[in-house]
Amino acid sequence: MPYRTDGRMTTKKKQILCVGLVCLDVINVVDKFPVEDTDTRCLSQIWQRGGNASNSCTVLALLGAPCGFLGSLAPGHVSDFITDDFESRDINISNIVWQQAGITPSACCIVNLSSGSRTVIVSDMNLCDVTSNDFRKIDLSLYQWIHWEGRNASEQVAMIQQVEQYNATVSAELRITTSVEIEKTREELYQLFGHGDFVFISKDVARHFGFNSASEAVKGLYNRVKPGAYLICAWAEQGADAMGPDGVFHSNAFPPEKLVDTLGAGDTFIAAVLFSLYNGKCIQESLIFGCQIAGRKCGIQGYDGIV
Ligand code: ADP
Repeated sequence: MPYRTDGRMTTKKKQILCVGLVCLDVINVVDKFPVEDTDTRCLSQIWQRGGNASNSCTVLALLGAPCGFLGSLAPGHVSDFITDDFESRDINISNIVWQQAGITPSACCIVNLSSGSRTVIVSDMNLCDVTSNDFRKIDLSLYQWIHWEGRNASEQVAMIQQVEQYNATVSAELRITTSVEIEKTREELYQLFGHGDFVFISKDVARHFGFNSASEAVKGLYNRVKPGAYLICAWAEQGADAMGPDGVFHSNAFPPEKLVDTLGAGDTFIAAVLFSLYNGKCIQESLIFGCQIAGRKCGIQGYDGIV
């Protein structure tokens, strides 16, 4: 344990680990959405490392948190690009699971500058996700917080249970906080509601359950989370709401002067909320911080410039 020159002990902050997808995003920036079956020249074409958990790592690193990514890759040109990019941002990838079969996922994205909209077509075909057996190899003592992007939910529940078992063996200050994101409307993912100290849901999931606002959704779905947990729902230009054992919370959005790129706004929001909570801030402050950083992201292309 390091000591300061004044002789008092300091602890280096432990890492935040994000578990989920990394892919290649080929981003085509256009000034108007293309008409089907036409040939259009884009304003720019950028290769960017994408995937929810991977994007959240980018934002955590920019905010200054020590963080790591856990997900699968297949060796090849695409994964070379991805690992170089992770390393350039100082994101720990020592836990990446290298799969022998399958291809690294990629996405074709259209970012429309005139509206800020993002349209994504993903090719996520055959690369196996990280399993609870892979997760067993991780040294949990390195982490203060682990976040799961909901994917292979049954395996992910088994990973969270490993963390709960670990938490039962260590003192309170060493326990790992857990969070999960349920973004897609897939039945399998809904088991994740009952796990995680913080549960993030998308507006798609909220709508799937019949709710038309974040505030209705957190109230209506709160009975699905475990006792003491927080349920959080972001809703684009309406901001975000949360519900926990101490009540309901809301932050307005912080719209940028001009909407430029909303690709990854949700991942930015989650990372900024995690960062704030990880630094000991309360849920209300963290919701506001999440919306501020996500709003700033919507006003720039990519992530550089969010802080
Ligand atoms: P995504 O479409 O990436 O899932 P969300 O709709 O969940 O993004 O939005 C996440 C957060 O990003 C919102 O809570 C808000 O703070 C911010 N945000 C997204 N879109 C806008 C927008 N058009 N104007 C201002 N803030 C936005």
